[in-house]
Amino acid sequence: MPYNVTLISGDGIGPEVTEATRKVLEATGVAFRWDLAEAGSIAQEKFGTPLPDSVLESIRKNRVALKGPVTTPVGYGFRSVNVALRKSLDLYACVRPCKIYPGTPTQFRDVDIVIVRENTEDLYVGIEFERGEPVTHRLLALISETKGRVVGEDSGISLKTISEAGSRRIVRYAFNYARSYGRKMVTAVHKANILKFTDGLFLETAREVAREYADIKFADVIVDNLCMQLVRRPQQYDVLVLPNLYGDIVSDLCAGLVGGLGLAPGANLGEDAAIFEPTHGSAPKYAGQNRVNPMAMMLSGVMMLRYLGEAEAADRLEKAIAGVIAEGRNVTYDLKPAHADSPPVGTSQVADAVIERLRQSSIS
Ligand code: NAD
Repeated sequence: MPYNVTLISGDGIGPEVTEATRKVLEATGVAFRWDLAEAGSIAQEKFGTPLPDSVLESIRKNRVALKGPVTTPVGYGFRSVNVALRKSLDLYACVRPCKIYPGTPTQFRDVDIVIVRENTEDLYVGIEFERGEPVTHRLLALISETKGRVVGEDSGISLKTISEAGSRRIVRYAFNYARSYGRKMVTAVHKANILKFTDGLFLETAREVAREYADIKFADVIVDNLCMQLVRRPQQYDVLVLPNLYGDIVSDLCAGLVGGLGLAPGANLGEDAAIFEPTHGSAPKYAGQNRVNPMAMMLSGVMMLRYLGEAEAADRLEKAIAGVIAEGRNVTYDLKPAHADSPPVGTSQVADAVIERLRQSSIS
């Protein structure tokens, strides 16, 4: 029986990396029935909304989606489709493994970190008050009245909310992940020294949950210190659990440690559905050039195979991708060292090289 999977190509470089990923997934021999869905600027033009109901219906029905990146206009226009998808489907856990594959050009060694980012709370709740609006003035007056603090009348306000229940479930998710994948330590990341009632609550809850998992070590670190430690000695970290915004930023930092966004996969998981997508965005300046690295999305496909229970196919596909990286010939520009003896290849050629390796592994 084929797996029914919602396939969202996204925009920008999305369609290219999605097509490359679809091909390698099919080349594993696992059968898929793709339910095509459009979101983002393409859907906006066609249907007048960046996230038509049919997309959510498709994911609710299939429970699994593979998604390319979607552009979010900065400072104007629609709010993020990605945030809306994660919230609507309550995909509260964002898992982003960051590990160095041999042959990757990077000055770091032995990095193998898994980021577990809370996906539904924090500054991403989307409750914002625009400068100059009457409701903003009312809120500023309330702040002045209740806190005795004057915030400039020309301010905009974005709310950061963190709940005990939200913190508990994401920290539990991180510990359960650590147990399932033989990981030794979970580190909670926060800024509880300054943000007492939000990050403070996250940290307090994380400490409580940690007591339920005596077999896994627990540590905590302030986010600014974490950033410095990550670029000095990333090997000291194993599983990181973070509130939404820090998780977003630290994901890109960790992607940089392991060779860049072209190698950083991800999954958004909830109780009823899962969306697999790379950490990177739609990189509009590279759109349509057959230039960018599809491996982050292919590795998201590897995560999807594992989620579907196709561990053997997942291992084969990951090995084929690792083989292409190690050989170093059929890789995109981001994986070519400065004085490489062959030019970079394009997105679709990477897919061909991965498929060739899958074919060879099935013969041998
Ligand atoms: P980006 O991740 O799209 O690109 C930043 C840079 O990273 C690129 O210029 C490129 O140098 C490099 N890069 C990204 N993907 C690569 C790949 N596959 N191979 C090689 N190099 C790659 O970040 P951005 O430019 O800040 O964002 C562009 C748009 O994407 C924005 O609208 C943003 O909101 C959106 N975005 C979407 C998602 C998502 O759909 N999940 C995630 C992040 C950003």
